[in-house]
Amino acid sequence: MAQPELNAVVTQKIEVAPGLMVIRVVPDGWDLPRFAPGQFAVLGLPPEAGRSNLADAEDTPVKPGKLIRRAYSIASSSKARRYLEFYVTLVHSGALSPRLFYLQPGDRLWLGPKITGTFTLDQAPTDKSVIMVATGTGLAPYMSMLRTELAASAGRRFAVLLGARHSWDLGYHSELVTMEQLSPDFTYMPIISRPAEEPVPWTGRAGYVLELWKSGELEECWGETPSPENSRVFLCGNPAMIEDMIGLLAAGGFTEHSRKNPGSIYVERYW
Ligand SMILES: Cc1cc2nc3c(=O)[nH]c(=O)nc-3n(C[C@H](O)[C@H](O)[C@H](O)COP(=O)(O)OP(=O)(O)OC[C@H]3O[C@@H](n4cnc5c(N)ncnc54)[C@H](O)[C@@H]3O)c2cc1C
Repeated sequence: MAQPELNAVVTQKIEVAPGLMVIRVVPDGWDLPRFAPGQFAVLGLPPEAGRSNLADAEDTPVKPGKLIRRAYSIASSSKARRYLEFYVTLVHSGALSPRLFYLQPGDRLWLGPKITGTFTLDQAPTDKSVIMVATGTGLAPYMSMLRTELAASAGRRFAVLLGARHSWDLGYHSELVTMEQLSPDFTYMPIISRPAEEPVPWTGRAGYVLELWKSGELEECWGETPSPENSRVFLCGNPAMIEDMIGLLAAGGFTEHSRKNPGSIYVERYW
């Protein structure tokens, strides 16, 4: 069977930390479809593409064959019409992410022409505050939502609660700090779980996002208790964090949303 052509080009690659990168991808000779912030696209590379030397070697030699494809949340604004940005972590034993990390600006890859997903801001009623909880690259869909909506949504409160292992793993930190300085409606609360490994003593929040939620810091900052009546919660990233957060939020009356049972928690599970 004929392989789909590698129909897009990497135009920028930023290494955030070892095994963590931001890449920009531009379709070659075709237009990006419109999308809603929070949706994902599919990236693909052939098995014979090179692998990052940070990754594990593959156990079995690769046979040429079908493209390896995976879903990636779009981090760029849906108003940016020329490129898509992705925030990717290296899964050392993985099939596609080591190949994505090998790419350099100018290299080609496959970008699925269809953009889909229901993890979108338009699920949340506009009169509710939005609490975005993430670990690691689970931040990607929120970057798209904030870059697209924050400037135009005066009066609606947004908060990002972001967990990472180290301070250097807090991708988009400068941009989020700037957003917080420019927008009175935006609160950014990063927290790291391995402060002892910091090269200089860590003075920020230490622990897990779960503890951050329990600490009541957001409540104190907002001057009211987040509840299903006034807020919606988005969860994205590590599946263990998602399940623990759903349990914790249930105590405050939040329930996971589905089409059948509308609720106040929206979830994107990466694996
Ligand atoms: C809707 C959706 C959106 C996604 N968006 C992103 C994104 O924005 N950025 C991103 O880096 N990944 C994202 N992923 C995960 C991505 O699709 C791949 O699963 C990931 O890159 C691993 O692919 P792989 O071929 O290297 O590993 P595989 O050979 O497919 O191995 C999969 C295993 O890798 C682990 N894994 C998968 N994703 C992660 C992760 N993010 N962090 C740590 N371990 C992981 C899990 O143990 C999983 O079982 C998303 C997944 C979905 C379903």
